[in-house]
Amino acid sequence: MDELTSLVALVDADRWIERVRGQKSQLPELVALHELEIEMKSLASVLTELTATLAPLKTELSQSSTAVSTLAQRKVELERRSAAPAATPKELVAVQSELEHVLVQLGEAQNREVEIFLRCEPLELELANTSEGAKAMVARRTELRKSLDELTASLDEEIASLIASRTPLVEAVPERLRSQYERARSHVGGGVGAAQVVSGRCEGCHISLSPLDIDRLKRTPSGECMPCPECERLLLP
Ligand SMILES: [Zn+2]
Repeated sequence: MDELTSLVALVDADRWIERVRGQKSQLPELVALHELEIEMKSLASVLTELTATLAPLKTELSQSSTAVSTLAQRKVELERRSAAPAATPKELVAVQSELEHVLVQLGEAQNREVEIFLRCEPLELELANTSEGAKAMVARRTELRKSLDELTASLDEEIASLIASRTPLVEAVPERLRSQYERARSHVGGGVGAAQVVSGRCEGCHISLSPLDIDRLKRTPSGECMPCPECERLLLP
């Protein structure tokens, strides 16, 4: 294996590792989870808002129902008293007058109760539907997290095995070229420390090489590599 061939084999291995790392960071499940979490946040604020709107209405409804039942009891009591045979005419007039008053109040309280109930009903329905939606989202999030854990674990395993099989490839590259490559690699923050030159451009940073650089590249002795003047990746012919 000539010197450059051994380097190209190492570069291929590093490209492969980068591809799998890229796959791991761009899993569609990650995007889906992120979008779902945004949706859940907005649903949570809808739930909070609905609950806050409903709370005083429900208190009002309960007070209104208590008023209706108190007045209804009073009405029954007054009706019983007005029908009692022992009542004097004076008492009867008083009872009748109070009964009329109670009936008016009862009618008003019942109207109020219906009005509050009609305001509560659609809000309660919306709250129930929103809660159902939230439950479904929580289930979906659990599912997504589980798939992500599984996928990530399997990709990590693949990366570890690729890194292990990289060692003999590193050892096959001559010392000088190897340290040059590793230097270029750490300069670009890991990953791949070499790039192909295609139509006068470095495929690593996409910069066009000057005619002078192209000339230098052509005159690079065999078994050596010229670094890209921009990104410092080793330029492969
Ligand atoms: Zn470059």
